[in-house]
Amino acid sequence: MPDFPRCRRTGWDDADRWADFLAEQVTRAGRVPETLVALTRGGWVPARLLADRLGLKRIVSLRAQHWGVTATPSGKAELTEGLSGPVEGQTVLVVDDITDTGESLELATAHVASHGARRVESATCLHISHSRFVPTYHAETIDRDHWVWVVFPWNYWEDLQTLGRRAFEETHDFGAAAKLLQERCGFPTTPADVERALRTGARDP
Ligand code: AMP
Repeated sequence: MPDFPRCRRTGWDDADRWADFLAEQVTRAGRVPETLVALTRGGWVPARLLADRLGLKRIVSLRAQHWGVTATPSGKAELTEGLSGPVEGQTVLVVDDITDTGESLELATAHVASHGARRVESATCLHISHSRFVPTYHAETIDRDHWVWVVFPWNYWEDLQTLGRRAFEETHDFGAAAKLLQERCGFPTTPADVERALRTGARDP
């Protein structure tokens, strides 16, 4: 994985659009679930936006870990925290932000099925075409030849911390680091944001 991967910065308008699209698909299919399972951490915001649109009150969380830091996979995906509530006998929709390798969602849906869910479907905002697992619903597909690291609004500071640090190590200047991120990653940001991200303490990956 390159130090400065191609990025696509997305915003809250995109998140709203994806959620609208997914809610519409699920509703049209007549498959509004009883429970949403939100994959920690990328699936939390999409699941909450979907719950609002589908009128659902029940969101259960499940933690999958795969990509250690921005754009750097750390080996095989693992489920590191179990379901926060029961799913037995329920119709379930497992929600994540993106399927890239697809390992996280594949593991998660199998885990939910093994805990007795009556029906398990899945939904993601984005789907990369090389993923080994295809979610039941996805709002947008990215062609495998155009792989990008998607900077979601719920991951902006974390991604900026990782990539901004690399850029700052090369440039030793916040303005030059922001320029480097724009030119080499296609990641639009400001010198003030790079400075703020680097002042934030290191996080547990
Ligand atoms: P996966 O490789 O499908 O198991 O991806 C696991 C998780 O890593 C996703 O739910 C995202 O939170 C994150 N992730 C993987 N690939 C990307 C990407 N290209 N852009 C942004 N986040 C990603």
